[in-house]
Amino acid sequence: MPYDPMGIRKAVDDATRAIDALESIATELEALEAEDKRRIEALEEQVEGQDNRIDELKDEISQLSREAKQPMPTLSYSSVSKFLKCPRLYYLENVKKVETFANGAMIQSGAWHQAAACNAVQKRKSGVDLPLDQMKALFMGALDEKFKVENVRLKENENRPTLESQGLAITEFFHKLVAPRIVPVLVEKYFRVSLGASFPFDLSGVWDLVDADNIIRDLKAKGQTPNQADVDRELQLTIYALAWRITYQEPEGGLCLDVVVKNKVLKYVRMNTKRTADDCYWALGLIERAAFGIGAGCDHPGTDGWWCSPKMCDQWTRCRVGTTFHGGKK
Ligand code: SF4
Repeated sequence: MPYDPMGIRKAVDDATRAIDALESIATELEALEAEDKRRIEALEEQVEGQDNRIDELKDEISQLSREAKQPMPTLSYSSVSKFLKCPRLYYLENVKKVETFANGAMIQSGAWHQAAACNAVQKRKSGVDLPLDQMKALFMGALDEKFKVENVRLKENENRPTLESQGLAITEFFHKLVAPRIVPVLVEKYFRVSLGASFPFDLSGVWDLVDADNIIRDLKAKGQTPNQADVDRELQLTIYALAWRITYQEPEGGLCLDVVVKNKVLKYVRMNTKRTADDCYWALGLIERAAFGIGAGCDHPGTDGWWCSPKMCDQWTRCRVGTTFHGGKK
């Protein structure tokens, strides 16, 4: 073959271009492959997220269906406290389910809490408190509703106009001094926790408010300023801490009572307190013993306290008038 330098150069150039084109295709393929890999990984993450959510939903559905088939009875702070004060009162109201009543203080407090909760729920989004007029209207609406639907029996010293005016004053005071100091995160949050597979009751209740520091805050209106020592051992707060730790597997940020003291001149007091793990275990033991007593049908009268009197106990007549100790006729 005759020597043809031009032909050789052309062949080399063609081969170089072909190699460049192949390299460029290879680079594009690599880029596409990397992109596909990223997409696949993103899809896998999404699928994993969906799988986790599906698992959560399955757990929730099976928990709900378990409860629907065989609802686990619950104990709350108020039911434990009632049993500890007077097992007979617990038996009458919670086991025999005799007629119960709401007194004026209870419905006033309920209406005030409802107004505070409505304010807190909207404040989570808006960042500001409702106007005072709106809070007052919420209080009055809630009080009115409670008078209509609840089985109200006012105490001797209670009447509706005073409950209304006092409740409005508390709402105004709350709006001015308490609400602006709270950044709500959880509002009226219901909790229900298992205390173990073999424990016959779940523990339930409602955290009034949990703020941005995970402090569980309970709103109260009281006749007098609480004592710090009492707040430090208050069972209600210990049960709230116990339920928090079981639910979230970590300690709460703190515990706090926001108290409006119903003196002639209203006063706001914030009482901070905390609980240790030992406090929570102690409360757990107490709940276990109360559950043991309830399960055994204990219904002995607990007469030794302010709660056992014709004025304070709604079941006085049923319990004490014309009956023997065991409830039979004299
Ligand atoms: S009257 Fe006293 S003993 Fe009887 S149920 Fe009421 S609190 Fe208990």
